[in-house]
Amino acid sequence: MSSLTELSATEIGALLRSRGASVIEVAQAFASKEDTVGAFITRSAPDSEACARAQVMIDAGEGSALTGVPIALKDNISTRGLLTTCASRILSNYIPPYNAMVVDKLESQGLISLGKTNLDEFAFGASTETSAYHVTRNPWDLERSPGGSSGGSAAAVAAHLSPVALGSDTGGSIRQPASLCGIVGYKPTYGRVSRYGLVAFASSLDQIGPFGRSVEDCAHLAAVISGHDHHDATSLPTDPISARDLKTGSLKGKRIAIPSELFDDSAEPGVLASVDSAIQALKGEGVEFVPVSIPEITVGVTTYYIIAPAEASSNLARFDGVRFGPRESGDGHVNVVAETRGKLFGKEVRTRIVVGTYVLSAGYYDAYYLRAQQVRGKMAAKFEQVLSTCDAILSPTSPCVAFKIGELEGDPLALKLLDYCTIPANMGGFPAISLPCGLSDGLPVGLQLLGGISRDEDLLQLAYSVEQCLGVKITPPKM
Ligand code: GLN
Repeated sequence: MSSLTELSATEIGALLRSRGASVIEVAQAFASKEDTVGAFITRSAPDSEACARAQVMIDAGEGSALTGVPIALKDNISTRGLLTTCASRILSNYIPPYNAMVVDKLESQGLISLGKTNLDEFAFGASTETSAYHVTRNPWDLERSPGGSSGGSAAAVAAHLSPVALGSDTGGSIRQPASLCGIVGYKPTYGRVSRYGLVAFASSLDQIGPFGRSVEDCAHLAAVISGHDHHDATSLPTDPISARDLKTGSLKGKRIAIPSELFDDSAEPGVLASVDSAIQALKGEGVEFVPVSIPEITVGVTTYYIIAPAEASSNLARFDGVRFGPRESGDGHVNVVAETRGKLFGKEVRTRIVVGTYVLSAGYYDAYYLRAQQVRGKMAAKFEQVLSTCDAILSPTSPCVAFKIGELEGDPLALKLLDYCTIPANMGGFPAISLPCGLSDGLPVGLQLLGGISRDEDLLQLAYSVEQCLGVKITPPKM
């Protein structure tokens, strides 16, 4: 029944509860679709026991909106007994002995895993091209990148290979690929979703979050995966994100800030035009737009590319070929470690380890790392100040639409500038969501809404109302 794969996650959940289909039937419909975009690294057949357990929950009237719904997971989220490679050769045979907290939560709510999706190696990137395994293609145009680093998850959802997926977002890796693939991607407030079992990139910035084809699907999935977890020292002592019924509420009287720095000419004209027409539509619904200036935004990318590699260089020290993954041979311990890390980490990973080690080294720590942390604090404070009088901050998600595979390969700076609009949310721990707002040259454009710390429910409600107001329903041409 191919039409099952056309349904949203929320619709599938409802269909299952009304006995219109069985859990195994739905899971098989997705699992049997051909992966023409290379979304997955490991695609697993739906576990019949997991499907049976979910069916029992549904038959007993238990579970939640997404019980029995299939899901794809980024391959840096630990899954007990299932390969977790981080798209790196250094973890090519790593099978975790434990589940990430989010995976335990998905299992306890009866969601069905379809497997592990492709990413940039260790989530370092914005194109999914640095994966050690294969490139992932954008369902809108197979010559183009789905964005990254969670490109596999975004492509899987856009190509209807899974109704929802999980990604991780350190500087934009959920929102940017969502934008390039024409779907919704949501990074919750830092600390509202446990990072336990997420292979760490930059621990003070990393956050797991959902992909879906609607705000509603993302809200339901956020409700399943969020909540305090004592295994994660940075987990907030707050309740899970509530997926209370999203209301088709009026936007009248909402105040939304638009920072001039996020609307400059670094973005493509087609992207600015599409976001601007969304702004006009929202104005028509009574939204008040407040022009603001946050100059710190202009040094966001520089600041991020000091802090993120610094933390990454420390986090990746554990991959030495001794405890995890394959081991290269060498003469003595030091050579074994050097050979393993030198041969099995890709170029982008090695570059970031070198940069990160440099900015943390004696003599440079104050000049780079400490300075970057100060800028980060200032930037976050400015955002908080704006959010104390506004409901959200609106901008493009990505300065460009999906680019050609290989187009930016020789231009690492251009790739890094793609994170310009998304980095501030990670710097301050703010929740932010990207939703489609139109097309430019036939390719999707995403609009980003950034909200106040722990006001995730308000942000999701606002995004839902914006989605309703814009009425953008876009599907890749050949789907
Ligand atoms: N593109 C950014 C980077 O390469 C963000 C990656 C991410 O969010 N995981 O660091």
